[in-house]
This record gives sequence, C-alpha cells and structure tokens, in this order.
Amino acid sequence: MYIVRHIEDLHRIIRIWRKYNSTTGFVPTMGALHAGHLELVRAARKSDTFTVVSIFVNPTQFNDKKDLDKYPRTEKEDLVKLEAEGVDILFLPDAEEIYPEGGFRMPEMKLGHLMNKLDGVMRPGHFEGVIQVVYRFLDLIRPDRIFMGLKDFQQQLIIREMMLQAGMQVELITVPTVRESNGLAMSSRNSRLTEEERGNAAVLYGVLGKIRKSILKEENFEDACREGIKELENAGMKVEYIQWVDAGTLEPSTGNEEESILMAAVRTGEVRLIDNILV
Ligand code: AMP
Repeated sequence: MYIVRHIEDLHRIIRIWRKYNSTTGFVPTMGALHAGHLELVRAARKSDTFTVVSIFVNPTQFNDKKDLDKYPRTEKEDLVKLEAEGVDILFLPDAEEIYPEGGFRMPEMKLGHLMNKLDGVMRPGHFEGVIQVVYRFLDLIRPDRIFMGLKDFQQQLIIREMMLQAGMQVELITVPTVRESNGLAMSSRNSRLTEEERGNAAVLYGVLGKIRKSILKEENFEDACREGIKELENAGMKVEYIQWVDAGTLEPSTGNEEESILMAAVRTGEVRLIDNILV
C-alpha cells in the first residue's frame, strides 16, 4: 500500500495505473476506521482494479468546533487495517493540500432542495463542506466509482446529485449500514460513548424498527413517532428529529412513493448519532 500525502505523488501513481486499462474505486473517510468503513473498502476491491482510500478530517464540514477537536484520530491502527484489506493507495493529505491558497474552482450547482432539510437544518454549513471536499477529491483522483455508506443517507443523495450536475462520470455505489450486534450503527463517534451510553444508543435502531412496522400496518405515524421519542428520552437521548421522507427527494412521505425512508438524529451525552431505515 502506498501512503501518499501529496497530490503530485498521487498523480504520479494514478498516471501509471491508467496505462493498464484499469479502473479505480475511491472510498473517502475521516479515519478512526471501523467495520463499516472496511465494508466500503471490500466493495471497492471487488469492483475495481485499484482502490484509493482517503483519510482526511475535513475541517469545513464541522459546524461545531468542539466536535472537530474531539473527532477520534487513530492513524496507526487505520493504516494496519487498510493494509490488511489490500488497499492500493492511502491518501493522507493535510488541509493545505486540499484547500490551497487561492482556492479551487467548482461549477455552480443547485442542491438546496436536498440540503435544506434534516441534517442540513440541524448542522448549518455541514453539507457545503462535504460537497466541497468530495468534489475536490473526485477532481484529484478521477475514480470510476465512489463508495459511500447508506448510514449517511442524505450525504450520498446530495453527492449523487452533485456529480450529476457537475457532469462527473463517476458511479456512486452505496453500501448498507454495518451495525454492532445490538443494532447500533457503527460510527467513529461511537468511541466517545460511555459503556452505558453505548448500550442506550442501541435503542435508536429498535425504535426506528417499531415505527417502520407501524407505518407498514398503516397505523398513525405521529402516534408511533411520539411513542418512539418517549422511549429514546427514557434511554437518556435528546431527539433532534425523526422524519419519514421520500427517499428520492427527502420531502415528507405521502406513503405512495417508490421508496421511503425513516431518518433520525439524536444526541446522547456529548455525541450526536444519526441512523435510518428504509420503509
Ligand atoms: P466517515 O469516516 O464518517 O466520513 O465515513 C466515511 C464513509 O463510511 C461514508 O460514506 C459513511 O457513510 C460510511 N460509513 C460510516 N459508517 C458506516 C456504517 N456503519 N456502515 C456502512 N458505511 C458507513
């Protein structure tokens, strides 16, 4: 595995690959890698000749400075995991490399309709930062495919639309959420949970499952939601939102769309958790 910190080194290797009629799969991450990330890496390894993984804790997508400072960083362990998975390039740039003085050009895009909802409301500026960094990586790496988790459902939807509007010839492959045995969606931030909070956090997936069942039985969604919120609060969580939306537009579900999804964000202690379940 090449560990690459500079764009020119990245380009030197990729230029050689291109000579061999190869394809490149790209997995962007912020490190503190867990089994969810590794599932994306495996998907990339299966479908492409070469795999590039980036680890970059992108400062522009943190709307909360404390969250950025406390974001877990486990570079040594991450390196061992990626090496074991057979990754070809680990790209570890610093912020100056990604955000050069004078900036970089991005095409005009209209993504407000996907960004002004759910996490876009709760975390002002977050998706603007995500779009900026993913655009930059795609422009630098020019992969054939990008691999993203369904855990961050709104994120992958926005990136899909961004690539479409920017005319990027990159296929987005989504990977189902990997969970702990108790149902808790794996997340780098879970390492900041106390043992007790970690147990309680698992309630979130259970609650989403119950609300989903109520929807399928055509029971009242608002009532099911109220019950769910009570259960989460009893487990020590503060609920930011639980919404049932059209999986294509993120507009409130009418119950008639092709695919709908239940999305939730909660806080437990200092940690913010998101999860979702297709209905
Ligand atoms: P992050 O390091 O949190 O920015 O995540 C990097 C990528 O891993 C994103 O595409 C996430 O959606 C994905 N990811 C994070 N957690 C999981 C999980 N539990 N299962 C599957 N993919 C995940």
